[in-house]
Parts: sequence; structure tokens; C-alpha cells
Amino acid sequence: VHYIEQMSTNAATIIPGPGIGIVRAPTTEDKLKILSDDARFDLACACGSSAADRRTKAADHSWVYPVTLPNGGTTRFFKTLLSNVCVNDCAYCPLRANQDPRRVVLQTEEVVHTFMNYVRTKKVFGLFLSSGVVGSPDSTMERINSIARILRIREKFYGYMHLKIIPGASSAAIQEAVMLADSVSINMETTENHFGLLSQKKQYQQDIIRPIKEIAGYLQERNQMMPYAQVPYLKRKAVQTTQFVVGAAGEKDQELIRYMGGLYSKIGMSRIYFSAYQRGFGSAHLPGEQALGANTQDNQKRSLREHRLYQTDFLLRQYGFSAHEIPIDGEGFLSLQEDPKKAWANAHPEYFPLSIAKATKQQLLRVPGLGPTWVSKIIKARQQGPVRNLEQLGKVNARLRQASEYLG
Ligand code: SF4
Repeated sequence: VHYIEQMSTNAATIIPGPGIGIVRAPTTEDKLKILSDDARFDLACACGSSAADRRTKAADHSWVYPVTLPNGGTTRFFKTLLSNVCVNDCAYCPLRANQDPRRVVLQTEEVVHTFMNYVRTKKVFGLFLSSGVVGSPDSTMERINSIARILRIREKFYGYMHLKIIPGASSAAIQEAVMLADSVSINMETTENHFGLLSQKKQYQQDIIRPIKEIAGYLQERNQMMPYAQVPYLKRKAVQTTQFVVGAAGEKDQELIRYMGGLYSKIGMSRIYFSAYQRGFGSAHLPGEQALGANTQDNQKRSLREHRLYQTDFLLRQYGFSAHEIPIDGEGFLSLQEDPKKAWANAHPEYFPLSIAKATKQQLLRVPGLGPTWVSKIIKARQQGPVRNLEQLGKVNARLRQASEYLG
């Protein structure tokens, strides 16, 4: 018996050919199994505090993702593609048009019904919606936006919602998504110089950079309305995120870090995510396919590169570093041997030791091993009396002992 996933209807289909043909159309659950699996490579939502937990799945439902909140608590998101049909040619993506995965499409009411059932039974508290490009960017955006519209207006779902912006979408479609969602993202994937290796169909400036700039403008308008908003979700600040697929197109860390600096300082990007390229899914011409071996050592290197980029991201967002200060080796890459904050400190012996009694908050944040929590602790303790060492403030672990070496 053949089994077929139908793309756009739930009617049963008879399949001509040898043997018996026919069968049932895929159920919503069948489709979700396929689509949520394909959605796992997209990390560009506020899911999780580490790469590991962003990739984790719940044991019972593969489309329900555990999420770690910034305050340390956890919640669960419903995360899926609407469709894995795609007209695009992204060379790193297993769903690109010339590949042959099982293609399915979720209908609008299927998503609304399934999601709201999970919400009512408190199995999920937020939604992450993405899609392959079915037809045109705008016809796909309309599918995404119509689900968001129904959830917000008809179902009165006011919880967290992340919507993917489809590359090449019109300004009107982007504006509507920004008004409906808590966060939106369009994936940059790589820098402009390398983008031609990833796609011949998508135009970097028109399809990626233009939407990112438009989103920034619409977010500003929306967030200015917050004090006057009548519905809860519009009272929350909405944000934009993006993702780079690291290593597919052969870009250097130096190029990515320059982009990160611009995205945070000029565009007001909220978060940048990195996904180490997974060898074996892409076109053979990609540098990522050629350069990386399948052995464990190379896999570890790939994950470590992603980890170093996340550490750099923290330095830019939370520690007051500028992109041009991040230490880069002669080849244009971050060190895999030492974290970027320690590499900076070791390259700047003139900066240390810092006086724990007198150094400013910004100076203390540059001490390897000291994070924002401990820096606040030091500043607060100084208001009560003299601070001479870290031991005075609490239990000192190996990381803090390392910090002590940079303090006087
Ligand atoms: S647009 Fe590109 S990355 Fe997205 S599903 Fe289509 S081929 Fe894959």
C-alpha cells in the first residue's frame, strides 16, 4: 500500500500504478510530524538560553518546544512550518525546490484549531510560525498573517507569537506581521559577499536587507503606540531577530562580527542567532560541504565556532564591547582555544589589574569571569562599605578565582 502526503487537500487519493494504491490523506498530526521536524533548524526566536535547549524537543509532542525564559523559568512553544513546499533555491536547505522531501501544507484552520487546543489545555503558551515559500512571498505571508490575525482577533489569543518574514515580502505584508506579533525574524544566513553561493533567486539587498530595515521602522511605530494600546499584546514591546547559518557559505567570523555590530547599533536588532551549518543537507558546491569533514573533531569545531560567536554576541549586547575590539586571528576567525573576553584581556595587559574598590561598572564587565550579576553585586556592596576581594561577597568558584587574577 502506498502512502501519500497530500499537499493541499485532505481528500483521499487513489494512486495509479502497480499494486494497490490508495490511501488516506495525511492527518494534521502526520503533517505536524514532518513540518515540526523541518522547523528545528530555525533558531531565530526567543527560544532558549543556549543552542542546546533551542534544539531540544519535548518527548511527547515533537512540535511542542521547551523554552527557557530570560528570568530562568521555562515554558513551551508550538513551533512549526506551515508548509515545506518551497520555490526557493537556498543551497544549504533540504527543502529547496529541486529536492524531494515529503511535501505537505497545513491549512489555516488546522493550525488555529490545533494551537488553540494546546493553549486551552495549557500545553503551550506561545507560537513560532514559519514556512517554505508556497507560490510567492506574499501569498505565503498571507497564510502566516491570516493565522496570526484569526488567533489575535477571533480567538483572542494574546500570548507570545513569533512570525517569520518571508524574504521578498511586500511592505504591507511586513507591516501587518509586525502589528500582530511579539517578535518577527528574517534570516540573513550570511554576509552580502557570500550570499550568491547560497541563492541565485533571492536578492540580498531587495529581499533581505530592505525587509530588515522596514521591520525596524514599523517596530518603532508600533512600540510608540504601547502606552495607548487597548489589547495586551500591543502593550508589550515587539522585537526583531535574525539568524546566520554559520559556515555554509565560507564567511569569516570577522565579517559576521562586523554585521553584528551594525545590526545592534544601527538597526536595533534584538537578538542574533547562529546555527552551525549541518553538513550533508546542502548542495555539493557549498564551502561548508567541502571544507568540513564528518568526523567528530570537525563536528566539535563547528559547534565550538557557533559557541564563540554566541560569546561574542554577549560581549556586544551586555558587556559594552564594540565589534572592532573583538580579537580575531590572522585568518579572520575567533580563537577556538580561548573565549573572546579572555583573549581581549590577555591582549590588553595595560588594562589590568583593576581595583575592585574603585573600577567602574563598564571596566569590571571586561574582567574575564565576571558577569553582570557579580558586577552589580560588587557595585552594591561598595555602597555599604569597602570591598577588598570577591570572597567577601560570596562563594568563589573556579570562574571567579580566574576573575580575581585580574583584580587588585
Ligand atoms: S526559503 Fe530557502 S531556507 Fe526557506 S524553506 Fe525555502 S529553500 Fe529553505
